[in-house]
Amino acid sequence: MTIYPDRAPEFDCVVCGKPRPPQWQAREETDIPPVCRSCERDWGRTTFGGLGDRNRDRRIAGQIFVLARVLDGEAYRAEKGMEPIYGRT
Ligand SMILES: [Zn+2]
Repeated sequence: MTIYPDRAPEFDCVVCGKPRPPQWQAREETDIPPVCRSCERDWGRTTFGGLGDRNRDRRIAGQIFVLARVLDGEAYRAEKGMEPIYGRT
């Protein structure tokens, strides 16, 4: 039996700026503020936040996304006793 989270409180997505959550939302697709499920799932995979997007806020969000992925990768490598890829002097 799956236990679904409560409906998210009302918020504006920090990426797309749309008011969330919509009137109806599947329980398994519940938003987790401050980013809506749509941006969480699709951001950077389409022109929205991807190539050709000139919105500065979304570009900064993209930078945060990239840094988080790099840190995740480096943490994995450290845990496995591997040499780091980034940050070497
Ligand atoms: Zn959004």
